[in-house]
This record gives sequence, C-alpha cells and structure tokens, in this order.
Amino acid sequence: MIVVMKAHATEDELKAVMAKVEALGYRPHVIHGVERNVVGCVGDERGKHQLQQLESFPGVENVMPVLKPFKLASREVRPEGSRIKVDGIEIGGPKIVIIAGPCAVESAQQVKEAAIAVKAAGADLLRGGAFKPRTSPYSFQGMEDEGLKLLEEAGREVDLPVVTEIMDPHDIDLVVGHAAMLQVGARNAQNFSLLRRLGKINKPVLLKRGMSTRLDEFVMAAEYILSEGNPNVVLCERGIRTFETATRNTLDLNAVPLLKQWTHLPVVVDPSHGTGIWSLVSPMALAAVAAGADGLLIEVHPHPESALSDGPQQLKPETFAELMKSLKAVAAAMGRTL
Ligand code: PEP
Ligand code: MN
Repeated sequence: MIVVMKAHATEDELKAVMAKVEALGYRPHVIHGVERNVVGCVGDERGKHQLQQLESFPGVENVMPVLKPFKLASREVRPEGSRIKVDGIEIGGPKIVIIAGPCAVESAQQVKEAAIAVKAAGADLLRGGAFKPRTSPYSFQGMEDEGLKLLEEAGREVDLPVVTEIMDPHDIDLVVGHAAMLQVGARNAQNFSLLRRLGKINKPVLLKRGMSTRLDEFVMAAEYILSEGNPNVVLCERGIRTFETATRNTLDLNAVPLLKQWTHLPVVVDPSHGTGIWSLVSPMALAAVAAGADGLLIEVHPHPESALSDGPQQLKPETFAELMKSLKAVAAAMGRTL
C-alpha cells in the first residue's frame, strides 16, 4: 500500500502517518516527490486493508494498493521518476550520463591513460574493475585493494567520480572508501545477502541485470536494496543469454522502455557486455539512447589488444570520442543533453 500525502502536508502530519504505519506492523518508506511525499508501507500483504484507516489522518490525500510486486521500485510511488546523485552527477535527469573506462584496472599507467581519454571525450563517471568476476579462476582476477587506489587516484586527477564492482559483502566498507558508486555485476544480480547489505549504505548502486534474469526478477533484486533503506539504485541492462552465439549476449533494449514504465529508477545500458564486439558498441549505444536510456556504460581501454579482460569489446579512445560526438544528435532528438 502507499499513503499519498497532500501537496502541503506538514512534517508532523508525515511523522504521525509513519508512526501509525509502524504501529500497524508495517515498515514505512518515505519517497520524497517533487509535488508531494508518498509513504510506501512494506509488510504482510494479508493485513494491508488495515492501512486504509490512514485516509482519515490529517495531511493524507489517499491510500492506494500498489499492484506490482515491487512496492518501492514501482513507478506508481514516484510517477515523475527518480534522479540519483553520484557525487555531483545526476542520473535520471535530462542529461544522458556516460560511465566509461576500462573493464579492469590493470596498472597505474593504463587507468590514468583511460581516465584522461574518457574525460577529454566528455564522460561523466570513470569506471574500472578492481575485483573481477571471471568465469575461470585461472584468469586475471583484478588488482583488488591496489586497483581501488589506482582507480580513485586516476579519477581524482581528471576530476571524475568513480564506479567499481563490489563482489563480496565483506569488501563493502573498503570499496565505499574509494568509489562514488558501487556496481553489482550480472553474476551477483540475485546475490540477496550482498543486495541486502548494499541496502544499508547510502552510496548509489549500479545494479546490473543477470544474464538469465527476467525483468520482474531484476526489479525485485533492486527492491532488496530499496527495502533495506537505500533509495539510490540505478538499473543497468547489459544483455542476456539467448540461443544467439554470434554476439556475447543479446542486448535487450525492450528492457529500457519497459523498466521505465514499471519503475521510477533510472536505466543505464551497457552495450559493451551486451554485444561483446567493439564494432557493435557504438550503434547499440545510439539505439539505447533512442530507446530512452538515462545513461550508458562503455568500456574504453587505451590498448584493447593487450587488455587483461574483455579486449574484444573495449573501445579505443578515438572510437569512444567519435561515439560521444554522434551521441549528441541522438540525445538532442530525444530532448536530452549529453
Ligand atoms: C563489468 O562491468 O566489467 C562486468 C563484469 O559486467 P557484467 O557483470 O555485466 O558481466
Ligand atoms: Mn568487462
């Protein structure tokens, strides 16, 4: 159920509503809207009719059931959409946010070169994995603590906030100390203990879709983070496994408008993992923006041919710079800026 407050409801009226929601055995989550606040009530579906009595409380406009199984992510609770701040960068507003950088941090020199290149081309956030979820335990696993430091340093040098993957709940405190946004990779999309722990921090989380996760399951994964109290979740479509083997994954652009209809969370698209082939990255990045994406995640490496992971899909700096130029026109056609 959601309790929709009147546009001019007072703070005391909101507090009284929250206290009553709690007294009825539900957890209140305040969602601050532009016009009005909404209180999402999470708890046992069976007794939810009791919440209807809140309609007589001062400051309450109405009490409505949320029809979708995801109670806090549902667009019903925030029709205008969420804007998530990553340091000074807002995702979900008019600007298309570009997250770019290498698949993995490999050395001080490599991450610095990548940072300088993506900054010069106009990226907003720097990415780079320090903890890498590799299919084989014998592949490069990432530079871990050292990688985090190098990424943070490179970001600081070019003045870009950094995004990096978190794999293990035990590393949350460490990663929070170095990054502005934490990425949950496709392989951890339904790691519920990790998601719950990320719900207890307030740093933004970039949640990737699992390679075999349906869209309803994907949004329920986001709901795990939201329901623990962290409202700062950005969804990332990164391709799914299908019968097609010509590309690494099948980038599901249906997901973009559907997720935007279902939820108020910003949606970012990753055409690098979505295709696995560098020459497909730019066309699919343009298509993603045309489909309504709020941002893009693009892997860029100064020397993709010698990359320690995901070489075939990483863009060279010059290709990335060209993509940034072509994106301007598509963004403008969509009424967005870059
Ligand atoms: C990545 O972003 O480097 C990554 C490992 O992506 P995914 O989890 O989508 O495979
Ligand atoms: Mn990668």
